[in-house]
Amino acid sequence: MAGIEQHDIAIIGDGPVGLTCSILLSLRGIDNVVFERYPDTSIHPKACGINQRTTEIFRIIGIEDEVYEHCAPPEIAGRTACYTSLGAEGREIVSRDAWGGGIYAEEYERLSSSRYCILPQIRLEPILRRIAVALNLDGVRYATEVRDLEQFEDHVKLTVRSRDEDYSVKARSFIAADGGRPFTTKLGVSWLGERNIFDMVFAQFRSPLRSLHPDPRNFITWSTNPKMGGSTKTGYLYQIGPWPLQPGEEEWVFACGVTEHDPERFDQQTMIDRLRRTLNIADLPVELRSFSHWNVNAISRIISRR
Ligand SMILES: Cc1cc2nc3c(=O)[nH]c(=O)nc-3n(C[C@H](O)[C@H](O)[C@H](O)COP(=O)(O)OP(=O)(O)OC[C@H]3O[C@@H](n4cnc5c(N)ncnc54)[C@H](O)[C@@H]3O)c2cc1C
Repeated sequence: MAGIEQHDIAIIGDGPVGLTCSILLSLRGIDNVVFERYPDTSIHPKACGINQRTTEIFRIIGIEDEVYEHCAPPEIAGRTACYTSLGAEGREIVSRDAWGGGIYAEEYERLSSSRYCILPQIRLEPILRRIAVALNLDGVRYATEVRDLEQFEDHVKLTVRSRDEDYSVKARSFIAADGGRPFTTKLGVSWLGERNIFDMVFAQFRSPLRSLHPDPRNFITWSTNPKMGGSTKTGYLYQIGPWPLQPGEEEWVFACGVTEHDPERFDQQTMIDRLRRTLNIADLPVELRSFSHWNVNAISRIISRR
């Protein structure tokens, strides 16, 4: 295969898994290349909870303290509660410690000297990317989609598209860090369970909600209202920083089920109205940053024999 770009390991996807794999390989002197189809790291907060095994790995790659500097402060990160709403009539139904907070603190401390922490992917990935690129200047490629993959006895061949042009890359092996998308299936991993259980919509927004919240220690705030589908369908909120918090910069995520009282597809105004209705704060200041629809699935991966 003369003329074809060659690497030891090709990594598909620059999420937390792909970038961490790249850093770990680079630290061990193993040649690798990462392909990410989007032009930059995630614009959606996505995963927030980082467990202790992961922060232990972050210690190995030298970013543990930087992650703690930017993660949710302990007084926010260890509690969740459910309310009828946050408005004048609203009341708390239940609250509890969680994620290593309160009654769980001693147990978590016993298990590891690294901490459970909360930092959304939008803020974690740039830290990982900086280290990955510093260790592998030409090897972390954005706006580059892996279009096809062929597996041979001793190598794989990837067809990669960048700036409307396809090129081939040969690697000894590959890591499908594509978030469970098609290349995971190439490894013989498939999904078992129920799909599309119900439709959800999610919004990322800026709002001074902490000052209106009856207990802003809660990282996740659930609302439940039988007239809005109850439980998850009514909606839930969580805080996403940026930490340390500066005045006017407070960001949140709100997600709710699409019920028979909602339009099938939301626009900006329906999204804001639904948020205000769930929280029962009619004049809540909201600066919507992004929103999107998604489906609830109850599926797990199964590995089949090949
Ligand atoms: C609202 C929400 C909240 C969540 N909260 C949590 C949480 O608290 N804790 C938790 O553990 N998880 C959470 N998750 C799930 C979490 O997002 C995933 O577990 C996590 O993103 C997986 O990381 P990853 O690196 O495996 O994949 P991803 O972050 O999905 O990254 C995969 C990357 O691969 C890229 N890619 C895919 N195909 C190709 C291709 N062909 N070529 C090039 N690039 C490609 C994608 O563009 C993407 O950037 C949440 C998800 C959502 C949507």
